[in-house]
Amino acid sequence: MGRAGADTSAALVAAVASSLDGDAVRAWVAGFAAAFRSATAELDDLDRQSGDGDFGTNLRSAIDLIEGDLASAPESSPGECFASVSKAFMHAGGTSGPLFGVWFREFARASDERELGREGLDHAASAGLAAVLVLGHAEPGDKTMVDAMAPVADVLGAAAAQSRDIREDLADAAAAARAGAAATTELVARRGRASYVGELSRGVPDAGAEAVAMFFEAGRDALPVTGDHL
Ligand code: ADP
Ligand code: MG
Repeated sequence: MGRAGADTSAALVAAVASSLDGDAVRAWVAGFAAAFRSATAELDDLDRQSGDGDFGTNLRSAIDLIEGDLASAPESSPGECFASVSKAFMHAGGTSGPLFGVWFREFARASDERELGREGLDHAASAGLAAVLVLGHAEPGDKTMVDAMAPVADVLGAAAAQSRDIREDLADAAAAARAGAAATTELVARRGRASYVGELSRGVPDAGAEAVAMFFEAGRDALPVTGDHL
């Protein structure tokens, strides 16, 4: 992890990580892949209740590719790691595959061979959201992944001027995405196949928004603020 503000002369002053290095990004992505894999059936079920039931299955092929790349390139840089995630989703089926593909492409662009910094994370969240809006034409409130992505872009944008640990950004992003995903429960789907079932989609959280929340929660859990790994 990048270090800024670490005061080696005062043991009581905690080191502050201003960026994620390759180890940190790979731990985040591996955590997401594992969480996603174990939730595949649950995500299929959410998509079945308000769509066609193929969401988790579509994206399982992406998870297979991501885990394969993590195993074959254990030293990949942050940029390479997110590029591999983007490519994997691009190849996944359904509406959601290419949408996640363009979203993760912004995380790859915001990273370099050494790190993903706070500014990059903030930029990836807003540029990724913009790319998903352009490709999918959804609006906030349509009960899609956008409803979890937009609050993350907002919360990271608001935190950008503060000087703090990037792991706090991840924790805030996870909370914002989780709240956004939970709020989709009461919405009626207006995009994707879920829109075909209309009112029946009310009462079920959106599977794509749940996946976005899982992604940031995996980052928060893999890289806890209180963790002593600096
Ligand atoms: P499909 O609707 O083709 O069956 P998937 O099952 O792969 O697609 O993915 C469904 C998820 O994709 C939804 O839960 C929603 O979050 C997201 N989604 C669908 N359409 C759009 C859209 N136009 N813009 C943003 N997200 C969308
Ligand atoms: Mg579906």
